[in-house]
Amino acid sequence: MSKRFTVMIIPEDGKRVRHLRIRRSLLTSALVGLLLFVGLFAWLAYSQLDLRFKQSELQHLRLVNGRQRLNLQRLNADVDGMSGELARLAETEARVRQLADFDSSPQAVPVAVGGIPDGDNPSLVDAVQKRINQLRLAIDLRRQSQEDVRNLLNDQVSISRATPKGWPARGWITSYFGMRRIPGGTKWRIHEGLDIAANIGTPVMATADGVVARAEYSSSYGKAVIIDHGYGYRTLYGHNSRILVKRGERIRRGEKIAEVGNTGRSTGPHVHYEVRLNGIPIDPRKSL
Ligand SMILES: [Zn+2]
Repeated sequence: MSKRFTVMIIPEDGKRVRHLRIRRSLLTSALVGLLLFVGLFAWLAYSQLDLRFKQSELQHLRLVNGRQRLNLQRLNADVDGMSGELARLAETEARVRQLADFDSSPQAVPVAVGGIPDGDNPSLVDAVQKRINQLRLAIDLRRQSQEDVRNLLNDQVSISRATPKGWPARGWITSYFGMRRIPGGTKWRIHEGLDIAANIGTPVMATADGVVARAEYSSSYGKAVIIDHGYGYRTLYGHNSRILVKRGERIRRGEKIAEVGNTGRSTGPHVHYEVRLNGIPIDPRKSL
């Protein structure tokens, strides 16, 4: 193959034909150059497009980032609000404990209130997550503590409901608790209750919640009711004309259990009312 080419240029107007003699290596170089140029152009065009695309993507990401940061800050503000709420709950609980004479709040876990550190979003997420975990722990402790308060209050309410209080019948006291002369005699003996005189048929009411332990006739107390209140308390209502409850029945304070009478060893219509704590008679007047 020849090392040169001849390119003939034939003008249409009949002028002289021109001959261009080109070396083969030059043609090859020109072709390579052209290819390089096209390639470079294509690469530049691609780079430009890619750059534009990346720029718009960056803008979008910045926007998303900003929004996420804002959301994190709002979340943090929420945590602040909840911490404050929790602190107020703890205060209320402390006041309830004080009112109920309980020990002051056992564990108070303070949740740090305040801003979150500057930094990239992942570290902000960590910071907020940490605060939320603290909050969760504090809420658990608060719940436990309030459970304790509730149980203590329940106990107090139960004890209070089981403690005899008030008059068992409307009437007037004819004999007090303590030593007294036996009617018609000269001997002294202890009167273990309170005698309240009232008309026959006057309602006799339980002075505390409890369970009927006895509801029967006895020669001394006549038709009598004994109520077991738990916590060591028992009450006795004697000399009734009628008994309205049965053994084992649950009774509420104020519930009518009998009617005033004159049964048993009695000299007139009255209720013999006794309060015993752990088996020992105590003065019912103290709980009227
Ligand atoms: Zn009596």
